[in-house]
Amino acid sequence: DAPLLQVDDLHVRFRVRGQDVRAVNGLSYTLAEGETVAILGESGSGKSVAAQAVMGILDTPPARVERGSVRLRGVELLGLPERRRRAYRADRIAMIFQDALTALNPVFTVGDQLREMYRVHRGLGRRAARDRAVELMERVRIPSAARRLGDHPHQFSGGMRQRIMIAMALALEPDVLIADEPTTALDVTVQAQIMRLLAGLQDELTMGMVLITHDLGVVAGVADRIVVMYAGSVAEQSPARDLYARPAHPYTRGLLASVPRLDRRGGPLVPIAGAPPDPAALPPGCPFHPRCPRAEAVCAVERPPLVTVAPGHDAACHFAAEVHAEQEVPGAGSV
Ligand code: SF4
Ligand code: MG
Repeated sequence: DAPLLQVDDLHVRFRVRGQDVRAVNGLSYTLAEGETVAILGESGSGKSVAAQAVMGILDTPPARVERGSVRLRGVELLGLPERRRRAYRADRIAMIFQDALTALNPVFTVGDQLREMYRVHRGLGRRAARDRAVELMERVRIPSAARRLGDHPHQFSGGMRQRIMIAMALALEPDVLIADEPTTALDVTVQAQIMRLLAGLQDELTMGMVLITHDLGVVAGVADRIVVMYAGSVAEQSPARDLYARPAHPYTRGLLASVPRLDRRGGPLVPIAGAPPDPAALPPGCPFHPRCPRAEAVCAVERPPLVTVAPGHDAACHFAAEVHAEQEVPGAGSV
């Protein structure tokens, strides 16, 4: 059986001011039904561009997929005619974004927008479409759903708007949901509620979810596997538990040391020094070397390949095996 979603060796390039920018440089992952893969990275790491490529909504030009493959249950999506691609987007792969206000139409009521999905894509009549819209709003736990159908997006709080965007994305029960920084604009308590809602809906619908975030805190307890991206490339990929317990890349170590963890009290938080590189001017060798506390001479010269340190656990570091072999991160492994 073909996997639900298989992304293979994805390369995306931009052409900016006459310059080639490699935004995504060889990303591969597989997503099974009901599974969550988190794509973790700072802004500019290529994680959102990669998601847009998978979704088929890259702005072209200047962005284009240079090579690679995106297969949904074995069907290659790259290069599909736009009309067929759109059908997949409506039905099979859905996406939610950081900012619900840009995803929702400000002019129409949320009821209109939800009903429209069912009328256009499912051919339901007015009455049936309205009933489904109410069900959907209840499913994402909008209080007094029926009464709020007539409200416009701006009449809802940020958290409630995010729920409505989730409702729109899930209306046609997609197989795959791509969530790009779904909680970044929200305050911390609302973030947790939205993540719980997403996890619950994912269970109910046995969807696969690709969760794109810069925030390791959002990923904990939700992701089955984690892909860490840095400067357009995969730095490390691993089952979530192994990544937390025994990261094999100094960048991942840095990320883990820089976020508060419920399971690891005490211990100061140490931010990673420096900033990610300009994607148009990547340093030679390992792209992380200017910030890496472990860098040696070879790192500035030779680009490290992805090496496997444990089953399903790869890292792109010349010293991945050593980093991985070091003692477990204290208190980790319970996420
Ligand atoms: Fe650091 Fe070198 Fe490993 Fe890159 S290859 S992460 S610079 S130790
Ligand atoms: Mg982004």
